[in-house]
Amino acid sequence: MAKIDFEPDTLRPPASRPLSRRFAGVKSALPCLSLGNLPTPVHEYPALAGSGCSALFVKRDDLSALPYGGNKVRKLEFLLGSAIARELKEVMTFGVAGSNHALATAVCAARAGLRSISLLTPQTNSRYVAKNLLMSRVAGAQLHYYKSQREADAGARFQALRHKRRYGKAPMIIPGGGSCALGTIGFVNAALELAEQVDAGELPEPDFVYVALGTMGTVVGLQLGLRAAGLKTQVVAVRVVHENIANSERLTQLADNTIALLRESGASLPQDSFEQLPIVLRHDCFGRKYAVFTDEGMAAIARAAPHGLLLEGTYTGKAVAALFKDLDSGALRGKSVLFWHTYNSCDLTPWIAGADYRELPRPLRWYFENPVQRRDRI
Ligand SMILES: *Cc1c(COP(=O)(O)O)cnc(C)c1O
Repeated sequence: MAKIDFEPDTLRPPASRPLSRRFAGVKSALPCLSLGNLPTPVHEYPALAGSGCSALFVKRDDLSALPYGGNKVRKLEFLLGSAIARELKEVMTFGVAGSNHALATAVCAARAGLRSISLLTPQTNSRYVAKNLLMSRVAGAQLHYYKSQREADAGARFQALRHKRRYGKAPMIIPGGGSCALGTIGFVNAALELAEQVDAGELPEPDFVYVALGTMGTVVGLQLGLRAAGLKTQVVAVRVVHENIANSERLTQLADNTIALLRESGASLPQDSFEQLPIVLRHDCFGRKYAVFTDEGMAAIARAAPHGLLLEGTYTGKAVAALFKDLDSGALRGKSVLFWHTYNSCDLTPWIAGADYRELPRPLRWYFENPVQRRDRI
């Protein structure tokens, strides 16, 4: 079976990041690992844009890292950076069975020489769930499966004690999606990276950035960073999770916590300009349930594919469905638009080729032995 190697180079802090260029002083307060292949490129897609907008660019975070990229890598640069700085050897996180965040944590932890534990809960079945589970196993993550979030929370207390007894230290707990203030700072950095690309003339200042809204760290970090860079860009956040997870109250709370952490870390942010973030919340492409694909989302995936954009049904397909709706209705005419691609596009097939699902905890085998949702069948 393939193995993900420890990469000592990831431990060397990046020479300089947009965040530390903008805010001198934060570098030592916010230790960061080199997990990402940054900056990720921006590519233009004129044929996809048609006459619907003046320019359509895509921020290719799908290429953010090998062997597994996507948006979570940016959060993990800071989360795992903090774990290493605190001399922890282990991280523990949460997600549904096919969670991209749990997988990204497992892979990045292995690359950084840390052990990882994922506490997983049920979700609707899709082909990617099986792939992600096998890849987590290739990364050496310890997987536990619980019937509900409540049981997973109790499991977390139990596992933390167990690991503390065994190793002398409890693992660092990373919340689902990596969306605490520290993880969100990874996307403040990402927005400053985009601002530098605008400055360098790689793309015009976007009027709108379309992105999927899950645990919200991506959207909140982006909008804060765009503000900090002095851009007028508005983030259009396409909700793909239940409203009790993503809503304006929780969004404001996360923004406040992130601003507080940035200030504590020595970033001088102007006092008022962060009061009202211009985030547009979109609720019209969610469908019925998290990780249940929609016809609209599947149509968006099919429309983007010939242009070389690899999307999926849980997050990016739904986000691009909202973008296509607005392009088609004429709402974006004359506007400069960016889609923030958040899903890994590296092929996991060679990595998981030799992995056997029967080595997974028994209840997780369900995802291999039962059909996937109707819209995911080929
Ligand atoms: C997690 C995830 C998101 C959402 O990011 P949040 O910071 O949780 O809102 C979007 N797209 C993909 C592919 C993801 O895995």
